[in-house]
This record gives sequence, C-alpha cells and structure tokens, in this order.
Amino acid sequence: MDVTEFKEFAQNMVEYVAQYLETIKERPVLPSVEPGYLRPLIPDSAPENPERWQNVMEDIERVIMPGITQWQSPRFHAYFPSANSYPAIVADMLSDAIACIGFSWIAAPACTELEMVMLDWLGKMLDLPEEFLACSGGPGGGVILGNASQATLVALLGAKAKIIQKLKKEYPEIDENAIVSKLVAYSSDQAHCSVERAGLLGGVRLRLLPTDDEYKLRGSTLQDAIQEDRDKGFMPFYVVATLGTTSICSFDNLDEIGVVCQKENVWLHIDAAYAGAAFICPEYRYLMRGIERADSFDFNPHKWMLVTFDCSTMWLRNPEYIVNNYNVDPLYLKHIREQKPAVPDYRHWQIPFGRGFRSLKLWFVMRIYGVKNLQAYIRNHIAHAHEFANFLRSDSRFEIVGDVILGLVCFRLKGSNEMNEELLEKINTRGKIFLVAAKIKDLFFLRFAICSRYTQSADIQFSWDEIKYVAGQVLALPKI
Ligand code: PLP
Repeated sequence: MDVTEFKEFAQNMVEYVAQYLETIKERPVLPSVEPGYLRPLIPDSAPENPERWQNVMEDIERVIMPGITQWQSPRFHAYFPSANSYPAIVADMLSDAIACIGFSWIAAPACTELEMVMLDWLGKMLDLPEEFLACSGGPGGGVILGNASQATLVALLGAKAKIIQKLKKEYPEIDENAIVSKLVAYSSDQAHCSVERAGLLGGVRLRLLPTDDEYKLRGSTLQDAIQEDRDKGFMPFYVVATLGTTSICSFDNLDEIGVVCQKENVWLHIDAAYAGAAFICPEYRYLMRGIERADSFDFNPHKWMLVTFDCSTMWLRNPEYIVNNYNVDPLYLKHIREQKPAVPDYRHWQIPFGRGFRSLKLWFVMRIYGVKNLQAYIRNHIAHAHEFANFLRSDSRFEIVGDVILGLVCFRLKGSNEMNEELLEKINTRGKIFLVAAKIKDLFFLRFAICSRYTQSADIQFSWDEIKYVAGQVLALPKI
C-alpha cells in the first residue's frame, strides 16, 4: 500500500467509524449469529495475491459486524463500560504509527516520560496522596498496565518480595520456600475473580473473607482472620480491598481495613477498576477515605474514563519491591541513563516485557475533554442510573438490591430466583437490550449498568419499557 492509498483507506475508515458510532443505537445490541458463524464467510487461507482495500472495507459489514456485541450502544447494560471516545481513537492511530516499544527509557523516551507525567496529572485529578506521585520527588509513581488483573498480581508480587526481604533480614538462615508456604493473602468474597487468580499465579494462599450486610469487607473481619492465621503459624502479607465490586458495586470499608493493614504490617492494594474514575469528582472521594494507608491503587480509565482499551493505571507508594526483586537485565537492554532514578525503565513495573504508547490516549482525552467535561460525563451516567432506579421504585413488582451509588443498578422481580432467571433469559433472547446477572448469598439479581457515551434519558426509558414488558410476560406465566 502506498501513501496515496493509505490516505484514501484511512479517510474512508474515519468516515465509516464516525457513521458506525453515531448510528450505533440502530444496530441490534446482541448479534444473532451462532458459534462458528465466521469461518465459512472467509477463505481457508491467506490470499496469495494482494487485495484491494475496498474489498476489505466491504467485508466489515459482511463478516465482522454481524458478530459484534455492541458495547458502545446505549442498549448495552452488561458487565461494566468499555470506554470509547474520538480523541482516544485518534491517539491510538498515532501510537500505531510511531509503533515504539517502551520497555526502557532509551527505547522510547517520550513514551516513558509522558506516562510519568500523565500518571501525575491523573493522580492529581483523583486527589491521590502525594506519595503516589512521581512529581513528589519520593520513590512513588504511576504506571500504565494492560488491566486491573495485572495490577493485582504486580502488587501481590511486590508484597511477597517485601515480606521475604524483611524476614530474610531478620532470620538470615531462613529458607525462602518455607516462607512462601506460610504466606496468606486476603480479599472479600465479593472481589473480582482475578484476585483469586492472582493468588494462584503468585503461588500463595488467598482467603476470601465474608462481607457485611452491605457487601463490604470490614476491618474487624480482616483483623480476626489475620489473628486466626497468625495463631496457626501463617504469615499474612497482602490484602486487596475492592472499591466498586463487580457484582453489585459495593465498597469495602477502606478506613477500617487500612488501620488493620498498617498495624499488621501488611501490603494494602486497592482494586477500583470501575469505580476509580468517579473519584475525579470530589463528591465521590468519600468512597476512598483511608487511601492514605494503601501501598498501591489501580483503576481502569478504559472502563469509565473515555480512554479506549487497554489502559489500567496503577500507583505504587514504593515500586522498588517490584522493580528490584524481579529484575533480569541482559546486556542488550543496558543504557547509559538507566541509573538515574528520575527515569524508570517501565518493563520492571509489569509482567510482560513489551509495552505500547498508551499514555498518548490519556493525554489526548484529558486535554480535549478537560477535567470539567470528564467529571460531567461521570455525573451524567450516575444521573441516568438514578433515573432507572426511580423507574424501579415506581413499580411495586420490583426491588433494588444494594445501594445505587455510581452507574450500576442491581434489581430483581420480588419473587424467586427462577423467576428472575427467566426474566433475564427472555430479555436477552429478545435482544433489544443486553444485561447480565449476579448472585450473592444465593440471591439472583440483574445488573443494569450505564455504559454508553450516547446514553440519554430516552434510552433509559426504552430499556425500562423493555424490562417492564418482559416482566409482564414472566409474571403472566403459570406458576409451577
Ligand atoms: N476488578 C474489578 C472490581 C472489576 O470489576 C474487573 C472487571 O470488571 C476487574 C478487576 C478486571 O479488570 P481487567 O479486565 O482490567 O483485568
């Protein structure tokens, strides 16, 4: 492809993307294809001779779009949002053109340095403790990872290195394997499944602790578990507190948990994958009260802050446990400026080696929206969640489960789990809107998340009308 063709192709694609996004509401939110639909639509092997870009463009509607679940549609209420915005899309274009791999400072100085500054900008927007910011001059700083799951694992590895280092200093003859076999980590039973997986990947025990009536992990529950484990000869070393749980968007009591972690000298990581974006609005920062006692904090701008996947931002009070303890440094990666603490080699802060220029999309989004419009975006979604909650309150057949705090409303028909399973299945089979369910303590409920940049009140009304209609059908079924 020469540059003239590139320009034509790209301009065509920009037109297509703009048209696709601006009319997304008109497409069915759920595809009607069956598994295996795609293979028969394209040849068995790659073409021997070059094809025209126009042919490729034509296949987007024929091959790809029939199999797309429309995450950007206002009819999409499943999971949590997957962010999208024009500035982020354009930034990704530039990042793809530069195509640098920022594993070390010298490999991509702008990639490394913009990332440091953007994490400071964003940290200030969230009002994170000063020690988390690189501009504080201390050891702390931020990094962009691919996702929140990786952040949980990175923090676990940091915590593991920290306790091993401490114990080896106190007892030089101690065997490292003996220490690892005694380590124990904690989260609530409402934490994302990736937390449990981090325990498995990190080769340590991880206990899921019960939550209170508001689905929060409390300090006293953690304290009791730690004491019980110490009494049995285990070594508590890591706690993950969740701010905005996946099932119901509850918030662990960070204030209480932080006090316990500090007293017990245990690493506290905060997983705020979805909810963290709300902390750019001062009125929601009460939900992260106690953050000053955390060792690490992560949230996903790629969920709810208009930055396209992937972009998970993590801040560490002291990255040295991760940077220094898992460090393999072959000669081909050495560079003359690596001794300067002011410039990190970000490969040491993550699991993979290579890394893209993801700070560009943060930069573009923060500049082109401005803090004010990003805050307005969050507030607007929360207002829509309350609109939906008010519809539910106005209909005595429904009940709301948990509190409506951010952009997620959990609800159910008053009645059996089976009836609610039926409701969900019928809603998704009709395919006008898309929801998923969750279950806590044997209570099955539906989750209604506000996800789209295009959501307006009329869309909430549309979804509510659909839910009401299907609920009427379910309630009319003969009871078994
Ligand atoms: N933590 C929480 C609270 C989540 O809700 C999710 C996903 O929804 C994750 C972690 C996993 O996020 P990621 O896909 O970025 O690893």
